[in-house]
Amino acid sequence: MSDQMRQMTVHESGPLAEVMQLEQGSVPQPAAGEVRLKVEAVGINFADVLTVTGEYLTRTKYPYHPGMEFAGTIDALGEGVQGFGVGQRVACLAGRGGLAEYAVVPAVTLVPVPESFSAAEAAAFPVSFFTAYHALKTLGQGKEGEWVLVQAAAGALGTASIQLARALGMRVIALASTPEKLEIAKKLGADVTILQDDPERVEKVRAAAGGKGVPLVLEVVGGKRFQESLDMAANRGRIIVIGNASREQASLRPVELMKRNLTVTGLWLTSLMADAEATAEAVKGVTPLIASGQVKPQVGPVYPLEQSAQAFQDILDRKTTGKVIIEPQR
Ligand code: NDP
Repeated sequence: MSDQMRQMTVHESGPLAEVMQLEQGSVPQPAAGEVRLKVEAVGINFADVLTVTGEYLTRTKYPYHPGMEFAGTIDALGEGVQGFGVGQRVACLAGRGGLAEYAVVPAVTLVPVPESFSAAEAAAFPVSFFTAYHALKTLGQGKEGEWVLVQAAAGALGTASIQLARALGMRVIALASTPEKLEIAKKLGADVTILQDDPERVEKVRAAAGGKGVPLVLEVVGGKRFQESLDMAANRGRIIVIGNASREQASLRPVELMKRNLTVTGLWLTSLMADAEATAEAVKGVTPLIASGQVKPQVGPVYPLEQSAQAFQDILDRKTTGKVIIEPQR
């Protein structure tokens, strides 16, 4: 095995095609408590894209190696690692470094994957399904029979949210920008589908939920659409703020919430994962549904490592459905 590898590197934030550079680096060695993965598939999240453009929640340390969620085979173990072995297939939520042929990650960030999963499916499930679970249950407190509104319904999080909501007995209203995307949502079990830009979308969503509005809204678009999420919610509705795909500012007048007793709750998977009890609950909720095949990660378009900037741009341009995958070994 060569001691050199290809890795995607970003030295400063900016336009994707300009700042994402494919560089040579040394194959890293695992320290105590770490493992090295031969990276086979990287799941690309909207957060990866915003981190490169400089629009994400947190400050980025450079050089930055993107790729927060990935899957592969363990090929070396650091001292003291227990419970994992060389040759084992795993997924991992290391936060960065996946867009490379090899990555060294703390063993605590590894996630076991079902035997039946391809590398792409393994890389597609942790962020989307754990976020969806926390939105629907941990924070959303969704109940069987209740309506939930899923925005960007054909995307990675959207497709996970629809399937999980249905598996948990909830009823789903899906919003997406094209008829093709709505068809994907319908096939995954959405009960009602409405175009994101339908001029009567607010009335249609409220009508679909029995005329009373939706008790649980998974809000991922932000900007002007945030106010619409409030308008679509039922009296005592819960709005879970998960994303800001529009990248526009939203404004919230707290007194607006009083009129219909609304609750707005923020969700960030990274900080929720620091809560061991919440994480254990999500693993317990999601794992059996994945194992039984009741829910399945939706793998979207697949790109080689050298086309990473194109893959990121396609997410930003709303061209993709399911989870975008990059395969560093191709
Ligand atoms: P997706 O695969 O869902 O891609 C983003 C989708 O957002 C697009 O396909 C598009 O769907 C929709 N969208 C709506 N308005 C815009 C816009 N103005 N520009 C671009 N896209 C838009 O991505 P992810 O599944 O990775 O993430 C979905 C959202 O959830 C993101 O906002 C992301 O940041 C958030 N997220 C947050 C997490 C957290 O911990 N808080 C964890 C995971 C995801 P359409 O064309 O149908 O409108």
